[in-house]
Amino acid sequence: MRQAGRHFLQIPGPSAVPDRILSAIGRQTIDHRGPDFAEVGLKALNGMKSIFKTEQHVFIYPSSGTGAWEAALVNTMSPGDKVLMFETGHFATLWNKMATKLGIRTEFLEGDWRGGAEPDRIEARLREDTNQEIKAVCVVHNETSTGSVSPIADVRRAIDAAGHPALLMVDTISGLASIDFRFDEWGVDVCVSGSQKGLMLPPGLSFNAVSERAMKMAERATMPRSYWDWHDMVGPNETGYFPYTPGTNLLYGLNEAIDMLHEEGLDNVFARHARHGAATRAAVRAWGLEVLCARQGQESGVLTAVLMPRGHSADAFRATTLQHYDISLGNGLSKVADKVFRIGHLGDFNDLMLMATLSGVEMGLAKAGVPHESGGVQAAMEHLKDNPQARVAAE
Ligand SMILES: *Cc1c(COP(=O)(O)O)cnc(C)c1O
Repeated sequence: MRQAGRHFLQIPGPSAVPDRILSAIGRQTIDHRGPDFAEVGLKALNGMKSIFKTEQHVFIYPSSGTGAWEAALVNTMSPGDKVLMFETGHFATLWNKMATKLGIRTEFLEGDWRGGAEPDRIEARLREDTNQEIKAVCVVHNETSTGSVSPIADVRRAIDAAGHPALLMVDTISGLASIDFRFDEWGVDVCVSGSQKGLMLPPGLSFNAVSERAMKMAERATMPRSYWDWHDMVGPNETGYFPYTPGTNLLYGLNEAIDMLHEEGLDNVFARHARHGAATRAAVRAWGLEVLCARQGQESGVLTAVLMPRGHSADAFRATTLQHYDISLGNGLSKVADKVFRIGHLGDFNDLMLMATLSGVEMGLAKAGVPHESGGVQAAMEHLKDNPQARVAAE
């Protein structure tokens, strides 16, 4: 049966696509080798440099984020190389599994899924690696399964403090364009991202930002690669073209998204997400529920994962909210399946959209018979009122 009004897609990616981007994508597809395409390609490649905050290399693939994970590994590694990864949650675990499947040896520093990567443990492990067997440290910036943020600049400092040459690889698929990220300043070597989260696009584009050092390493790396090969991209990219058919219409959308982010100002975008994260946590506290991220200062502005009271199914609750209030909330993944639900507050999102989202959650808790206090929506509203967003001039 038809549901009146609009659906609330409040999973932590894909995020709802704004009309401006949908119209941009709806333009006619053009010849990706013709003269008009160069402008589209160059704008996208240079624009993404401004989003990653890098003057080094950016590559764009017509793939999901998982593809760019693979690209990061196969371009820099040789069979049998070792990487050090940190178990922040489900996505770190998947990246670790992928590396193993590709024939890379991995060491996985165990984590409790309640915070970001721990730089001191990374440093201690690197100090033990006197033969420098570890070729890269891989960290997830915003762990979408838990709502925790890893301190990337501190991970770089840890690698440097250990005097270790390992590359720093970062998955910021769900962090980019929502949480501060500075590729050059933080000394990241390879970054992985995707289109369907903070960039507000539909799924289908992925990205690598790559340092000069990683490009050099790629020249010696012997892992088999073809579709993902950075070196095949470099030449055509210089003039705005790609070695194979790019996602032309998604690139139209990407260029619109880049304009929108700069019109608002990246710092305002980051502050907006942080503020919505804080308001959401105020609601969760008022409900008497617990936020999964337990490390203060590492809570995500992209999403909030909420622990269900013992004996209550998060998936049954989500089914109830979908049925009655037409809102999709994120599910718990692997270790926390059915134990948490995730509230996405990312992308093209404002105060009233957050209030509607939290109202859906609060009404859903009541409808599904989940024990909680009322007043979460009120607490979030007060947080927003008491903490107006400071705005800096856009770039
Ligand atoms: C969404 C996400 C992925 C997976 O991206 P796909 O586009 O689904 O392949 C990987 N890592 C993180 C942190 C994510 O949020």
